[in-house]
Amino acid sequence: HAKDMGKGRYEVFDSSMHKKVQSAMILEADIREAIAKQEFVPYFQPIVRLSDQEIVGFEALARWKSDKRGFVMPNNFISLAEETNLIMAIDMQIIEKSCRQLKHWLAEFGHSSLYVSCNLYSNHFFDASLPQEIENMLERVGLPAKHLRVELTERALLENSDIVLANMTALKQLGVKILLDDFGTGYSSLSYLHRFPLDVLKIDRSFINNIHEHNNHQAIIKTIIDLATNLQMGTVGEGIENASDAKLLEQMDCMYGQGYYFHKPAPAHEISRQLTPCIQS
Ligand code: C2E
Ligand code: MG
Ligand code: MG
Ligand code: MG
Repeated sequence: HAKDMGKGRYEVFDSSMHKKVQSAMILEADIREAIAKQEFVPYFQPIVRLSDQEIVGFEALARWKSDKRGFVMPNNFISLAEETNLIMAIDMQIIEKSCRQLKHWLAEFGHSSLYVSCNLYSNHFFDASLPQEIENMLERVGLPAKHLRVELTERALLENSDIVLANMTALKQLGVKILLDDFGTGYSSLSYLHRFPLDVLKIDRSFINNIHEHNNHQAIIKTIIDLATNLQMGTVGEGIENASDAKLLEQMDCMYGQGYYFHKPAPAHEISRQLTPCIQS
């Protein structure tokens, strides 16, 4: 009876579809232009040692400072950037700017082991030139590789595992550490974990919100931490919003954490004010 529903319905449907396609095309064109204009900048969220809340590093989080659209958050551009593969260029822009900023902090504040942890789209790990790209970038910036970490999601570990494994191994040989982001939310077949040279599991924040109210979340977190420990990996809890979650995670032997309770993501100049100079001898 589709015909009986009348012509009008199709037109409404068509025109809303048309609008969606059109706005996606405009967004894509704007993202392209923004990449050329270097409008993507990192915000930095401190990662702390849970035992003393000392800052050990930062996660770099992309923000789009658009001439046209104002301040744009990742959920408004990342998925389209992924679909169009423009994400690779955004990732490289964020990673290079983050490494330059970290180099500056290392020189200015004398911290010797701070790191920056950058998100890389999983498809980037299917590209055999990734390690060389990263190596060239580090050389351009003049930052030793041990100060860089990359975060990827479980999606990268599902297929084409030979090239992904080769890329990870090459990055590790450079000295870049590798983190598995949002752990526990993917298609977690635990069997793959030991096949990849991962350094850290980041426990997804969906398990961390008000841990004490969810016995099953506590069990999952404990299992993730034990698993990581057995595989000689570290853990970072993400999305920690209150003292009780921070305390519980620490008691469960999670070493590091990040979340609004400690620090919100902030632009570099705000972070600079929070970093206390180390006494240099
Ligand atoms: P993610 O990598 O899991 O990053 C953590 C997200 O949680 C960030 O959102 C951060 O601002 C937010 N967050 C941190 N602490 C808390 C907290 O206590 N409570 C809550 N509710 N949220 C918290 P953001 O910055 O909006 O980024 C969202 C996602 O976009 C990231 O999730 C990552 O998947 C993606 N993304 C961000 N920057 C980049 C980038 O440069 N490249 C790529 N490929 N993806 C990026
Ligand atoms: Mg991340
Ligand atoms: Mg995450
Ligand atoms: Mg996430």
